[in-house]
Amino acid sequence: MAILPITVYGDAILRQKAKPVEKIDDEIISLIRDMFETMRNANGIGLAANQVNVDKQIFVVDVSVVEGLEHIKPVAMINPEIILTSDESVIYEEGCLSLPTLTADVERPEIIKVRYLNADEEIVETEADDLFARVILHEYDHLIGKMIPDRVEPKLKKKLQSKLRDIQRRKVDINYPITEKQ
Ligand code: ZN
Repeated sequence: MAILPITVYGDAILRQKAKPVEKIDDEIISLIRDMFETMRNANGIGLAANQVNVDKQIFVVDVSVVEGLEHIKPVAMINPEIILTSDESVIYEEGCLSLPTLTADVERPEIIKVRYLNADEEIVETEADDLFARVILHEYDHLIGKMIPDRVEPKLKKKLQSKLRDIQRRKVDINYPITEKQ
């Protein structure tokens, strides 16, 4: 297993639509293990493949470290699709390992249904709500090249600009490995 450097706002791969996984081989299984290790090392609860510089539709989520959510098992989702979102939405403060030190209120559907391939190449459908749903939607956003600033009110987005510049220039304190400035 390995802790991989995490891509940071400004890295081009974070703005690309990730490619679907065609075959779940040993390389993919090993990547998923590395992603879990990288996420936990950074105290994250979700991580997408393009956050470790890999152009593939995979993300990992582990909300079991959050009080009250211990029953939700860590999961790796391959080629995920959001197949249902509730009309009800919730606003909640979000962070991102690729946007260190930044947090912002993001409105997202409260309940979702996601369809994905698991590591055994089985099609799985999972219903998720609250924080679990939020993390899945956040990670799914990464796979379509979207990040927190794209999901906030335009007024708030303006306010985030100087912080985003500092992050892009690596002028923030980060206690986990990140990529070199491109
Ligand atoms: Zn993120």
